[in-house]
Amino acid sequence: MITHQYKEGITQPRNLLTKDHLQPRTYGGLTIYDNLIAACSQCNNLRGEMEAQAFFNLQQKWFRRDVTLRARWHTISREELYDLKTQCLQAHERQLRGLAMRNIEYAFRHFKFICCQKKLFRRA
Ligand SMILES: [Zn+2]
Repeated sequence: MITHQYKEGITQPRNLLTKDHLQPRTYGGLTIYDNLIAACSQCNNLRGEMEAQAFFNLQQKWFRRDVTLRARWHTISREELYDLKTQCLQAHERQLRGLAMRNIEYAFRHFKFICCQKKLFRRA
């Protein structure tokens, strides 16, 4: 079983579905049904506190740039993951500088995919 230890102290299979906060907890997002989405462990960890739509846009860009990446997503090397994480943080900085946090309703209206697994997002 492929595991990783990206967040300190947490080791999970990279393709395990986790509960992710649409609005990150650091921005006041609550652990309530309306604010929870499913995302694989890899996407959840990599996204960190980035706004969800911005992260998924970034991810689609990576997938277009490297057509093998989606298939390799859960087995990429630690170095590659670190590189993507750095890009995430840079994008997040730009986002903090330039963009206001989108509200949850907006994210729900525009949300297409939960994560790399590209499943349609549907509210139960
Ligand atoms: Zn994923």
